[in-house]
Amino acid sequence: MRQTPQQPPSPSETVGLPLWLLAELTYRCPLQCPYCSNPLDFALQGAELTTDEWLGVITEGRQLGAAQIGFSGGEPLVRTDLPELIGEARRLGYYTNLITSGIGLTEQKIADFQRAGLDHIQISFQSSDEQINNMLANSHKAFAQKLAMARAVKAHGYPMVLNFVIHRHNIDHIERIIELCIALDADFVELATCQFYGWAYLNRAGLLPTREQLARAERITNEYRARLAAEGHPCKLIFVMPDYYEERPKPCMSGWGSLFLTVTPDGTALPCHGARQLPITFPNVRDHDLRHIWYESFGFNRYRGRDWMPEPCRSCSEKDEDFGGCRCQAFMLTGNAANADPVCGKSPHHGVIVNARTEALGLPPAVQQLVFRNERNSRRVSGV
Ligand code: SF4
Ligand code: SF4
Repeated sequence: MRQTPQQPPSPSETVGLPLWLLAELTYRCPLQCPYCSNPLDFALQGAELTTDEWLGVITEGRQLGAAQIGFSGGEPLVRTDLPELIGEARRLGYYTNLITSGIGLTEQKIADFQRAGLDHIQISFQSSDEQINNMLANSHKAFAQKLAMARAVKAHGYPMVLNFVIHRHNIDHIERIIELCIALDADFVELATCQFYGWAYLNRAGLLPTREQLARAERITNEYRARLAAEGHPCKLIFVMPDYYEERPKPCMSGWGSLFLTVTPDGTALPCHGARQLPITFPNVRDHDLRHIWYESFGFNRYRGRDWMPEPCRSCSEKDEDFGGCRCQAFMLTGNAANADPVCGKSPHHGVIVNARTEALGLPPAVQQLVFRNERNSRRVSGV
């Protein structure tokens, strides 16, 4: 039974607003990307929230001050109530984003979403090469469908926003990826090198590029960027480096419980979409309202501020800039989520990052040897 506090807790002066609400509508997805950030045990998660439950979450999020909402998954298009959820979010004043693989999208659906008020659509690709794309997605139709839908999105007046996850199996094709984006008249392209969570962490040895590969890809992207700018071309290229080659961690989620609130398909509320793996019982929107979850719950307060930090972060002059890095990465790589993110050169665990870089120098396993994200593998790697 859902517990609503007798008196709504007054927002703490030190806690910001959850400006970004990520609605992970479902873990169902027709594709099987071996770098998917969904949890390894996604097949064992509870029942999805109903339409009415999502409408409640969307309403409470807006009342708390959320300004942007992302509909993602899994593949959010498998939810037939998507136009209704988009419409309600837009009516409440959110800026609405759809993050999709493009599989299941049709001209009719784009028109329906547009009528409902959808502001922004991002389509992800696996590769510029049809064969590699379809092998990674484990679907022989995926590439053609993505191309068609990227064009259809633009034809409906939306900017074309593409996302390519970059890894060992496509990084050396960066020119072809960028050329494809230019040929498609893309407006924004995120060339996002794999971040190692969920399935990507499981497949890290097969996905982490070498430093040389990254340097080449970044140089080529910069050359294209300069050329496009000189031509007055509208396409913007964004290259995201993996933090495994940094000496300081990223300011993960701009700080724990600071801006981002994720609700997973079964209603679990998280400070970031990777946090489910931590040994913390996070609250569920079926049991508590979002105000309680954001301001009062143990999970959202666990790593807020700085008091939880052990050394070396506690006495570090950089702790207000990076917040000690990523709690999930610290947990995955050191077994303790409170530790400094091992990406940091000051972390006593930094050697695990150095070892991963060395591992990337070896021959990568073939694509077929990666562990694909599907229900069978989810149960297998979860020991069920
Ligand atoms: S990363 Fe791939 S498998 Fe995961 S949700 Fe997106 S499209 Fe589906
Ligand atoms: S020691 Fe902690 S706070 Fe300092 S730079 Fe490293 S991760 Fe950031």
